[in-house]
Amino acid sequence: MSKPAYKRILLKLSGEVLMGCQQFGIDPEFVAELAREVKAAKDTGLEICLVIGGGNIFRGMAGAAKGMDRAQADYMGMLATVMNALAMQNALEQIGVHTRVQSAVQMDQVCEPVIRRRAERHLEKGRVVIFAAGVGAPYFTTDSGAALRAAEMQCDALLKGTSVDGIYDSDPKTNPQAKRYDTVDYDTVLADNLKVMDASAVALCRDNQIPIVVFSIREKGNLARVLAGEGTQTIVQK
Ligand code: UDP
Repeated sequence: MSKPAYKRILLKLSGEVLMGCQQFGIDPEFVAELAREVKAAKDTGLEICLVIGGGNIFRGMAGAAKGMDRAQADYMGMLATVMNALAMQNALEQIGVHTRVQSAVQMDQVCEPVIRRRAERHLEKGRVVIFAAGVGAPYFTTDSGAALRAAEMQCDALLKGTSVDGIYDSDPKTNPQAKRYDTVDYDTVLADNLKVMDASAVALCRDNQIPIVVFSIREKGNLARVLAGEGTQTIVQK
């Protein structure tokens, strides 16, 4: 794998990618596959922060839609992200990658709290830092958590690994003429309501000039290709 252009990245994976081919939950084989991709990237000397969503287990909005109190449902969603973080930690450590999980909701027996200076030290020592529980507050998503940690940790880019290979001007599933952007600016994403990340996450990246790289993590080896500037992707920038 060739040397990537970035020195430090934040990789955001939606919870759904941990399901593999399942309909729900965590597929350990697929998580192991993702861990190998992360290791390959790390082995090039890249510093990696990870944020993993929780949608494969629970989303607050879905709970609220069924009559739950929204904040209560969001707390459950945040706990789901911690489960995913632990699954990824396990998979990474099984292949010799040192990691720390830092959760925005404190749970001392399970992982560390989010402490930026400590996270810095982990990265310096070559550990992957997995940030769990988003921003630690309801009514937010892990996209916002990812943007916040990318800014806080001064990452060169936020890479969003999803099931699609970039951002389209309309839904490619329903419109065969849909066009994929190579690059697009933050304001177009916000004005046209392009489905990349939620608006608060995009605005935070815009205000801190953090490029957002959207790519498909489902294709094997794609993280490496994207880091080498070769894979199919869309870059959101100024
Ligand atoms: N969540 C939250 N605050 C945060 C991050 C996440 O309340 O800062 C909750 C929210 O209910 C969300 C769920 O955790 O639906 C799972 O996160 P997300 O939907 O971002 O996961 P993804 O779609 O990336 O799998």
